[in-house]
Amino acid sequence: MRALTKLSADPGLELLDHPEPGCGAWDVKIRVLRAGICGTDLHLADWDDWARSTVDPPLVIGHEFYGEIVAVGEKVTSVAVGDRASGEGHIVCGTCRNCRAGHRHVCIAIEGLGVNRDGAFADFVVLPATNVWVHPADLDPDLGAIFDPLGNATHTALQWPMVGEDVVITGAGPIGVMAAAIARHAGARYVVVSDASDYRLELARNAGADVTINVTRQSLADAQDTLGMKEGFDIGMEMSGAGPAVSDMISNMNHGGRIALLGLPHQSYDLDWGKVITHMITLKGIYGREMFDTWYAMSQMIATSERFRSAVSQVITHRFPAEQWEDAFEAARSGRCGKVILDWS
Ligand code: NAD
Ligand code: ZN
Repeated sequence: MRALTKLSADPGLELLDHPEPGCGAWDVKIRVLRAGICGTDLHLADWDDWARSTVDPPLVIGHEFYGEIVAVGEKVTSVAVGDRASGEGHIVCGTCRNCRAGHRHVCIAIEGLGVNRDGAFADFVVLPATNVWVHPADLDPDLGAIFDPLGNATHTALQWPMVGEDVVITGAGPIGVMAAAIARHAGARYVVVSDASDYRLELARNAGADVTINVTRQSLADAQDTLGMKEGFDIGMEMSGAGPAVSDMISNMNHGGRIALLGLPHQSYDLDWGKVITHMITLKGIYGREMFDTWYAMSQMIATSERFRSAVSQVITHRFPAEQWEDAFEAARSGRCGKVILDWS
């Protein structure tokens, strides 16, 4: 089969002929039809410090995917050959305290598909049946390929009720844009999104943001002025990993405001802790997706709202055949993109 592989401990990737993965008794084998490129894949291609310290080549990379189930192990009864599905890319241990309590997203021994074991940028991927999420047969395959990042956005957005709240999102990457769509869907009053890219801020407006702020020219205080807000934002979703974005957010929260942080910092940053403490601001880190309540919630939003579906679909801005993976990675790296999809069909 074709597989996009990190062959050795150096920068670069290769599209190779690779043996098909075997399907164990509890596993499911999926023919990949579409896959999404994530920042993680760019780190793996570039072979940066994080990649070096995390990955043991050779490895088939990729973890955002949609496909068709072509084989199931002899113990598997929950899904069937022919089902269309995506997969949760975090494989959990099942035995740690958190797993046994049903809090699988905080498993202490998580393995990542396409990071710690062979992934989905290939004709076939194998994963445990418990990680498979079956879609309605008529779901758009491109949408199926972005359930993983949509799940990151949904997990972040589900931390607190949003009805009537003023919501600020820092970072209009694909996940920040999808978070704006969720905040709109979930009944926020105002949704404000910041980024340094006008291209990406337009995607955020199309997803339902009321006001967008280009941080190279404006700050979140300008959004408060535009909207006539007097008390600050109630809920923040940090989707950039950038220290200045977090500082600007904290400066513009209402007292008692709540912030969920998904964005992973490239380096540590200072914060005005005095403000966090005296304004009683809650900060909560977010990782992955809840298994599988997040998957349930996003599936139902996609299934029941045409407006939500189109707000999320427009985040997919580029599609390439798998053979043109180099062009796809270049598009993803450029920043003038939303989600970039590889077509493996
Ligand atoms: P992305 O890199 O495509 O988007 C980040 C955006 O932040 C970019 O558009 C960038 O222009 C913008 N940005 C940079 N500095 C900014 C600033 N000062 N103010 C406002 N915006 C600024 O990433 P993505 O794929 O959308 O993911 C969002 C974040 O979530 C990334 O940091 C990613 O690493 C992280 N992530 C975390 C998890 C998790 O489980 N915690 C999972 C997936 C992704
Ligand atoms: Zn565990």
